[in-house]
Amino acid sequence: MIKKNIPFSPPRIDERIIEEVVDTLRSGWITTGPKTRLFEQRLSSYCGVPATVCVGSATAGLELMLRWYGVGPGDEVILPAYTYAATANVVIHCGAHPVLVDVGNDFNISLSEVEKALSPRTKVIIPVDVAGLPCDYDDLHNLVNRSDVRAFFRAATEEQETLGRIMILADAAHSLGAWYRGIRSGKLADISVFSFHAVKNLTTAEGGAICLNLPAPFDHARLQEYLWIFSLHGQSRDALAKARAGNWKYDILMPGFKCNMTDIQASIGLVELERYDDDMLVRRRDIFQRYAKALEGLSWASLPVFETDLKTSSYHAFLLRLQGIDEEQRDRIIQEITGHGVAVNVHFIPLPMMSWYRNMGYRMEDYPTAYENFSKEISLPVYYDLSPDMQQQVIRALTQVAGKAL
Ligand SMILES: *Cc1c(COP(=O)(O)O)cnc(C)c1O
Repeated sequence: MIKKNIPFSPPRIDERIIEEVVDTLRSGWITTGPKTRLFEQRLSSYCGVPATVCVGSATAGLELMLRWYGVGPGDEVILPAYTYAATANVVIHCGAHPVLVDVGNDFNISLSEVEKALSPRTKVIIPVDVAGLPCDYDDLHNLVNRSDVRAFFRAATEEQETLGRIMILADAAHSLGAWYRGIRSGKLADISVFSFHAVKNLTTAEGGAICLNLPAPFDHARLQEYLWIFSLHGQSRDALAKARAGNWKYDILMPGFKCNMTDIQASIGLVELERYDDDMLVRRRDIFQRYAKALEGLSWASLPVFETDLKTSSYHAFLLRLQGIDEEQRDRIIQEITGHGVAVNVHFIPLPMMSWYRNMGYRMEDYPTAYENFSKEISLPVYYDLSPDMQQQVIRALTQVAGKAL
């Protein structure tokens, strides 16, 4: 067998995608327009939510929703120490304080740690569905709805008054297509935000979507309209409407952001979504199962959880842990695997290890499980075009290197 270099997570770009993008390029309309609106409708039906708004990234989506909820100076937002920086950076952008908490053995935010971190300043909790495995949403909802927790919630805006409690804003960057108790990711929190960045399960090169799932009496159609405007300079009429003859007048209703999705991006997303369940997820599940089968029973391999009675992952990333090693050994093992032409990764370097957050005063020692998970973790390649032969090469490189070291 010829050894190939195996990348970590290249996007699936085939003729179908290229044709759809070319169709947009030839249509005369390349920015936000009919394809973005159609993609939003398809995402809403896929997730079973009343409304979706597509934006330029998950980061932008998370920040828009924090700002919509009125999160600002003096407020706290609880999120896991084990996540990508986007989850915390958006809190800082808003002038609020990120309260980092430790995670569990499954890499997801720990409910008991969330409970300890609650304060009268808590406005939002951002759970992260790490690697595509949904968090414990029933427990989260029970917690924010508990009468003693509701009693110390201090509403400072109309939106906060209406919800009357801490908002659950899911960072669902990894979990499109995942299930929790028969409900899809997107419908598991008050608001969920997906990422369509190039390395994610479904990509639009860059992009994101906000799925709205707020309780009554929130008006989702009105909120969707508001977010369309909020994500485009607060302009009362979008570019497509303005482009129609005689329709040149517009107003600025607020100093909005500029993070709308383009129809070029949406055209990629439409093709991706159409074949997501029957093709992409099937392929990723096969890859997960082959890794699990090859590695289970090896004393040093600790496999990630991806299917339980309650949860089904979106099979975004295969977070393997190597038992009995420390961070330095892990780094050396990664280097050796790379020498075999196999790209692996680490999800994630915890936030307290990043300069900015360390300088804010966060200490890695305060997040022992996050550190434990991180120091032993190696993410294996998972992507559509990873053939069984290539996967064999990954497994061989891994078992050779790890088997020798352990
Ligand atoms: C990728 C990612 C994001 C950011 O997504 P963008 O679309 O790149 O803004 C946020 N959170 C997590 C956990 C991610 O992995």
